Amino acid sequence: MTDKLIDTIVIGILALQGDFKEHKDILESIGGCSVVEIRLPDQLTTIDGLIIPGGESTTISKLIHNYGFVSKLKDFHKSGNPIWGTCAGMIVIAKEASSLAPWAPLNFLDISITRNGYGRQLDSFQTNIKIDKMKPTEDYPGIFIRAPKISHIGSKIKVLARLNNNPVAVQEGNVLATSFHPELTNDKRFHEMFLTLVTQRSRSENQKSTGLQHR
Ligand code: GLN
Repeated sequence: MTDKLIDTIVIGILALQGDFKEHKDILESIGGCSVVEIRLPDQLTTIDGLIIPGGESTTISKLIHNYGFVSKLKDFHKSGNPIWGTCAGMIVIAKEASSLAPWAPLNFLDISITRNGYGRQLDSFQTNIKIDKMKPTEDYPGIFIRAPKISHIGSKIKVLARLNNNPVAVQEGNVLATSFHPELTNDKRFHEMFLTLVTQRSRSENQKSTGLQHR
């Protein structure tokens, strides 16, 4: 995090394929951060948090491998930076995913995924879901499009929302994932939650580095 102005939260959206533009629009309408489209691995050093959007997980996986993103993404994750994967993005950051071969998912979250587990295009649907700790507490409009189903979660995974008892929003440390598409709604609460996570993490990092300087 050397190339950015301290105090400005910068959120990157992986912009290789999928609905990155919708994420950008919603974050910009919230304000309090600047938003950059990430197309080159080195840009990851300039951001505080990353969103991997919905789209096609095989295509996104192929592009991150071919464009040299994998090790840089792993470094970004290892440093504790917040990451949020929506739909295809969730598949890309899972531990295991069906039918993604030859690409391996990044293993940022201890979850296993069945791709298209809620059905194919014709089975796309919208339904109200309850998200843990979301304020205000009203139901959230969950848009599921050829959505991945979480078939297994590890012991450290916090489930933030379920649909018919299946986890559809999960968190492990600073990594979030949703089976559905918050960027396709007018409801800004999920993006606000992510922005809060990124802001808190960035503040605590800044405090650490100022603390070091004062020693
Ligand atoms: N079914 C897609 C995949 O497996 C994900 C769909 C989406 O992101 N809406 O990549």
